[in-house]
Amino acid sequence: MGDSNGTTRRNTRQRQVVLEELRNVTSHPTAAELYDMARQRLPKISIATVYRNLELLAKAGEITKLELGGGEARFDGDASQHHHIRCTQCDRVEDALGPALQPNVPEVTSPSGYEVTGYKLEFVGVCPDCRNGIENTESIQTRSDGL
Ligand SMILES: [Zn+2]
Ligand SMILES: [Zn+2]
Repeated sequence: MGDSNGTTRRNTRQRQVVLEELRNVTSHPTAAELYDMARQRLPKISIATVYRNLELLAKAGEITKLELGGGEARFDGDASQHHHIRCTQCDRVEDALGPALQPNVPEVTSPSGYEVTGYKLEFVGVCPDCRNGIENTESIQTRSDGL
């Protein structure tokens, strides 16, 4: 019991810290950002450990892994069903508030007969910081960002 028990305890502790750090923020951090946060409390934690624990927690349904357009996977300590809005300028991600849009997946079909198992819905926009930046240079830039 001795040694393996110590290892188990350490693994549990690392996972707990990763989960707590993620739940402390609403910024939907990337694994690298979470690594920086977890390192403040566990200086010896490795980024591989952070990745592994994030995957485990996501599989267990404790957190949500967000694979949105534009960049790296992000993680959300709030595992409840909700949608996100991503800034097209700086890739920041926030929760999208408003009516819950939930397509009825079993009613969705495809011409070739896919088995549809889910969907990804992502709102995009421009965050307040980027809007301020854009307003300052509004006469220079008229953009429609590839939509
Ligand atoms: Zn932005
Ligand atoms: Zn969220």
